[in-house]
Amino acid sequence: MNYILYAVPFFFVLIALELFLDRWRGVHTYRFSDAVNSLSAGVLSTTVGLLTKAVGLLTYTLVWQYLGVFELSASSLWVWLFAFVFYDFCYYWNHRLGHERNVLWAAHSVHHQSEDYNLSTALRQTSTGFIFGWIFYVPMAVLGVPPLVFLSVAALNLLYQFWVHTRHIPKLGWFEWFFITPSNHRVHHAQNVVYMDRNYGGVFILWDRLFGTFQEELDEEPVVFGVTTPLASWNPLWANAQFYLALWRDAMRCGRSRGGTSCASGLCAPAGDPLMLPRNTRSKSRISVSSSNSTCRSTWRKNSMPGRNSACMCWAALCCWAWAIP
Ligand SMILES: [Zn+2]
Ligand SMILES: [Zn+2]
Repeated sequence: MNYILYAVPFFFVLIALELFLDRWRGVHTYRFSDAVNSLSAGVLSTTVGLLTKAVGLLTYTLVWQYLGVFELSASSLWVWLFAFVFYDFCYYWNHRLGHERNVLWAAHSVHHQSEDYNLSTALRQTSTGFIFGWIFYVPMAVLGVPPLVFLSVAALNLLYQFWVHTRHIPKLGWFEWFFITPSNHRVHHAQNVVYMDRNYGGVFILWDRLFGTFQEELDEEPVVFGVTTPLASWNPLWANAQFYLALWRDAMRCGRSRGGTSCASGLCAPAGDPLMLPRNTRSKSRISVSSSNSTCRSTWRKNSMPGRNSACMCWAALCCWAWAIP
């Protein structure tokens, strides 16, 4: 059972509410093309996920069955609470390395490509996260968290993250100390130097405070959303593929320059080839956001896609979603 699919109607109701708030307050947090692109990426991710999540789940179940150290019961409340918190701990490291290692960033970057920040951005998910993502949750299987509990807390974690993708909610007082909120997640989606690669938690911000990756949203530094090298496309397939292709080209160039030695690893960093550096190093070397944010050379503020493309994407998204509903 996929809990996320059942939440989709509520997502759309909340997006409609956010659009109403936009109009009421006279602000513009949506561009139609960008929102369609984010929704298309989300539908693609959900559709692909129906086929690929079995890989991670099967591995998890096998590890739980044969390598599990404890026998935790799905009928114990404390097991659910423990799993919910421990899942977020594993998510923190999955997410953090997703920003710090090129090969993982290739998957996760899809979620960050939008230069807007609204509830449709929350649905902008990768279609390739299944390749390495499952590795980070193996400790839960080893500790004996049953697959049903694992799947449920994973869905709850993802559902929680939906509401924080909005610019309409300000800082939330004491809540900011413990939980991921719209304010500290806006920081996470920023490309400003001061904000980059911060606030990785899914539900709890405590991990960031503990491991030194927390950054508060500052009044004097308005957030500039997006990635430092813009996607510059509305195509959801390209959104998922472009960084892998860039890595592949770099690896080939690197291999040739080293007399045929394979350089497929993103850690291999020949001088003058910034794509092979871990993202934070690369981004900071390329960053062009001024401290006042008056200019941002790396954004791609195209406001529209051709009408025919837009209609095709809407139609494809609706078809995929209809197909994905069990
Ligand atoms: Zn991220
Ligand atoms: Zn996000």
